Amino acid sequence: MRVSDDRYTRDRQRLDLGLRLIRHEARTFTIRQWTGLSDDRIRKLYRSYVMNLDARRVSRHRGKSPRQAAFFFRNVELNFQSAQLASLYVMYGLLGGTQAGLESRYRLGSLESGALLCQAYEAYLELHTPVYISFEHAWFLLLALGRRDEVGISRCGECGGVRLRDLLAKHKLACGTCGPAAAAPMPATVMSCAAAC
Ligand SMILES: [Zn+2]
Repeated sequence: MRVSDDRYTRDRQRLDLGLRLIRHEARTFTIRQWTGLSDDRIRKLYRSYVMNLDARRVSRHRGKSPRQAAFFFRNVELNFQSAQLASLYVMYGLLGGTQAGLESRYRLGSLESGALLCQAYEAYLELHTPVYISFEHAWFLLLALGRRDEVGISRCGECGGVRLRDLLAKHKLACGTCGPAAAAPMPATVMSCAAAC
């Protein structure tokens, strides 16, 4: 009896996570990676979600997942939001600091890690309007930070704030807020770095 209860709870958690990922417009492939649900079950879950509520707002993404780390360096605001998201990953325990840099602390396919990723992304959504980083890009950022081959985080040479670092570029010590690109206009809501700079 107990075993089947546990199994039921686990399945429930799997579906809940799947639903949460659908709400964030994650790709089917991503949902499968994190929940272990079959494509068929994901399709049914998506259908029942669409029939129930604000379906107009949810679009389903097919095709390839984002793979370009250059995306996070496209402009000052994106760079700032990416650095903040990276900090949230550390706060939520998905990444941890070591002497060599950041390392992954999540397990792909673990429902607990999947829920933490959703929580971190939801915290990010709370902080920004408009939001520039989709869930798929956020997941890609987490992967890329853990790999340490393209992007990392470091301290801004000017203000001491957290900045996202392009590991393939040797130049640029300042963060997006302090660097040359900072002359571009930024939304009034972006204030975090102002006190320190
Ligand atoms: Zn700075």
